[in-house]
Amino acid sequence: MILIIGAGLSGLSAAWHLRGHDVLVLEKEREPGGLARSVSEDGFTFDFTGHLLHTRDPQIAALCDRLLGADQVRLERRAFVQHGDRLVPYPFQANIASLPDDVRIECVKGFVETLLPGRAPAPGSFDAPARPLPLSFLNVKTPRGAYALSFLDWAKATFGDGFTRQFFEPYNAKNFACDVATISADWVSWAIPKPALEDVLRGAMAVVDKAFGYNPRFVYPASGGIRRLPDAFARELDCVKTTQTVVAIDAVAKVARLADGSRVRYDALLTTQPLPELIAMTTGLDAAAYAAVRQLRWCSVASFNFGVAGTLGHDRHWVYYPDRTLPFYRAGFPTNLTSAMAPPGQTSICAEVAYAPDRFPPSDDDTARVRDGLVACGALDDARRVTRATRLDLPYAYVLFDEARRAALPVLFEALVARDVIPLGRYGSWNYLSMEDSIAQGIEAARYAKGGR
Ligand SMILES: Cc1cc2nc3c(=O)[nH]c(=O)nc-3n(C[C@H](O)[C@H](O)[C@H](O)COP(=O)(O)OP(=O)(O)OC[C@H]3O[C@@H](n4cnc5c(N)ncnc54)[C@H](O)[C@@H]3O)c2cc1C
Repeated sequence: MILIIGAGLSGLSAAWHLRGHDVLVLEKEREPGGLARSVSEDGFTFDFTGHLLHTRDPQIAALCDRLLGADQVRLERRAFVQHGDRLVPYPFQANIASLPDDVRIECVKGFVETLLPGRAPAPGSFDAPARPLPLSFLNVKTPRGAYALSFLDWAKATFGDGFTRQFFEPYNAKNFACDVATISADWVSWAIPKPALEDVLRGAMAVVDKAFGYNPRFVYPASGGIRRLPDAFARELDCVKTTQTVVAIDAVAKVARLADGSRVRYDALLTTQPLPELIAMTTGLDAAAYAAVRQLRWCSVASFNFGVAGTLGHDRHWVYYPDRTLPFYRAGFPTNLTSAMAPPGQTSICAEVAYAPDRFPPSDDDTARVRDGLVACGALDDARRVTRATRLDLPYAYVLFDEARRAALPVLFEALVARDVIPLGRYGSWNYLSMEDSIAQGIEAARYAKGGR
């Protein structure tokens, strides 16, 4: 029997691609979906932070399309960076025309300096591991050239001191709740686009949004929130058991123990739990794994959702906030994706705040701080229009990339795979994964499990 721990998108995808096999999925929450869940409250739908589906792989796009059916909207990104009182179209580095002269000059000058002979770092590339594991996503590559730099040094070398000071450093310090000199740059290759000099110059003189980046177009359910995607997976499966928390794993005897005291014997285990929790509850691993897991760093996120009486007065999908005086790094406007996210006559805002795990969960005062910050930056004109506030907590949100992660993961993955335990998903593979990536890992893990190692 193949046991899958967690009914988030990676676990559901693995189970879905294992239909016809002897599979059991155990999920601790009352419903499947993990991070891709949504809650419904009096006509409002709140996601666990906005989850927009942008696919690159045609096979996964077709699968999601089939699962979501006709009831979906296809949208062109309307995203911005708020710098002072100006709204700059995203991506910042190609659209600074509306900023004050001194900021534009600082940014363009710094960018040009990165192009001077001898200034650019070697292009970023990766070395494959010396001892590859059988699943591609468990192979931790070693970055070379630009990707081997700290994030701060990479941003300076790639975009220059001006763009780094004005946006990349303050924004990412808020997003990851850490000093960005302490994280590495090996996650950025697909996520942050470097424009050509001509695009920076054009963007500094007149606004041109050239659909840079990984998410210029995306899909979203027309109603019901992002949970419609995991719900559609789960509807086609009869092996998903909710409110079943795994509390211990004996990796030698291949037995999982549940919170209610029952035991499940398995032949292979696919697990999507966060690695720190998985290793803490598992006995029988190589001793090095228990030391290695202590090296992993991450940040938590709280998603502050507000119902608002009346309209928002704009059609933005989301805005990034590098300003350190505002608590949130990003705010999304779900009712600008589809009006079905709120009851008639109301709208909604979702603001995301990142925390170091030892400062999590936030206090109730933070809700008022976030609401007041939305008024201060102009995202909301009057706090009295807020009709409800709902906080959703993500104890694990972004894994932090650094050298310690790179050293720890091979030790952890080798120890787990040696015991037929396959960690997958955003927190099992301890990576920066989109929903599409998580579904893809589920497909690969299912293929591996079918092979019967
Ligand atoms: C702030 C934020 C914004 C994001 N925005 C986007 C976006 O716009 N677009 C996009 O494509 N992706 C986005 N993502 C990424 C996306 O959420 C993930 O890639 C994906 O949902 C991860 O799925 P998963 O199954 O790997 O993990 P999870 O969703 O975390 O699922 C793991 C499951 O395991 C369960 N579990 C854990 N421990 C146990 C246990 N002991 N027993 C039983 N069950 C257990 C959990 O309850 C959970 O259901 C975002 C992520 C974050 C943090």
